[in-house]
Amino acid sequence: MSKPMLGVLICISVVAVPVFLYLAVGYWLRIRRGICPACGQKRLKMVNFVRATIEVDGERAPDAWSYHECEHCNKRFKQHRGRFTTASEHESRHFDISRKLATNRRNFA
Ligand SMILES: [Zn+2]
Repeated sequence: MSKPMLGVLICISVVAVPVFLYLAVGYWLRIRRGICPACGQKRLKMVNFVRATIEVDGERAPDAWSYHECEHCNKRFKQHRGRFTTASEHESRHFDISRKLATNRRNFA
């Protein structure tokens, strides 16, 4: 095998494969639907994911939670540490941001 050909193969394995995996996982997360805790339909869509640093007993620790909206019954939920709770009114900005981004994507497409 020639050296330029070997270089192309290395580029594909180092750059293209991780990029493909990143895009494939992103697409899968976008189309995936969970089961709604309210209506039981598999129409629960994750609309936002928050990663943050919290303080526990004076020490910083990583934390994460996500926001979900059911496409069937339109109920909104927050998932934190595996538990779904109804999203409060002041958390609606997390849903609005996601909706604005989707609208902008449609307008530029
Ligand atoms: Zn539902």
